[in-house]
Amino acid sequence: PTRRLTGFKPTGHLHLGNLLGALRPLIAAQADTASIALIADLHALTMDHDPQRVRALTLEQATVMLAAGVDPERTPIVVQSQIPEHTELHYLLECVTGFGEAARMIQFKEKSAAGGPVRLSLLTYPVLMAADILVQDITAVPVGEDQNQHLELARTLATRFNSRYGETFTVPQGVRPDAAARVMDLAEPTIKMGKSTGTGRIGLLDPPDVVRRAVARAVTDEFAVVRRDRERQPGVTNLIDVLAACSGRQPSDPGSYGALKREVTDAVETLLAPIRARHAEFAVDPGHVRQILADSAARVRPRAVATVRRARSALGLLD
Ligand code: ATP
Ligand code: MG
Repeated sequence: PTRRLTGFKPTGHLHLGNLLGALRPLIAAQADTASIALIADLHALTMDHDPQRVRALTLEQATVMLAAGVDPERTPIVVQSQIPEHTELHYLLECVTGFGEAARMIQFKEKSAAGGPVRLSLLTYPVLMAADILVQDITAVPVGEDQNQHLELARTLATRFNSRYGETFTVPQGVRPDAAARVMDLAEPTIKMGKSTGTGRIGLLDPPDVVRRAVARAVTDEFAVVRRDRERQPGVTNLIDVLAACSGRQPSDPGSYGALKREVTDAVETLLAPIRARHAEFAVDPGHVRQILADSAARVRPRAVATVRRARSALGLLD
């Protein structure tokens, strides 16, 4: 049976891209797929970070997931650091990872070249990500392009470990999400909307006037025709895709960017209003949300413990 993992880093507020590209597919699949929603707080420590902010965002992301419709009975919402087996397996996997193999990761090269001090955890991040996947016997991981190489590493490490030390891990498959579910930055439509990149972002908790202004400011072009052309009209194409993803509708006026933006604003608002309202309800009782996180952790932990026990034994550690 399929076991699916979707991870979120508490590095910023969840945005429309996270909803359409990750949360909504997760929610749609939860009736018939065993999924885990992982809030990867340890991964948020690999770059310069503010402790207060990471703590607040971890709770906020959990609350937004519940508000968006993640049912924790079907899809446990797991805070990575609350399952110590992730870090234990991380170390064990480091012992089958080459230094050069980690140093070759494109994301490490890019982020470490950006200047400033580089944390060792940035280098070993993909190994921890492999541990996140392998510790739960995950079979399917939806990955965007930026995580492709990391998923390949997870597969390599699992296969290598199994062949050297005996059958221990399930080798996961990468699942390519629908390209149309990729939301681009509104101000810079050639890069994806991100929590920590770009400026044209729609936060899932942004109030209506902020959403309206973000859409109004979205870059378009001088063609004055509403059509999908990712090469030449990336901004307009993104707005058309967002409209379709949010409402299932096509633009009604092929000649007006103003009309397109009004339709996008309405469609986004229709999608976000109930999430905002439910978030406000959950946010009244953070203790309840924390209890859900504790219950989720308790539910998934036995499998993590069993996986680590197999790995320890395979490697020759005394039990
Ligand atoms: P960061 O900029 O810190 O990497 P992010 O916005 O990319 O943040 P992640 O926590 O890395 O968010 O990813 C959470 C999930 O959301 C992943 O499944 C990722 O593939 C998906 N996702 C992120 N951005 C988009 C986007 N613009 N469109 C569709 N899906 C996205
Ligand atoms: Mg990302």
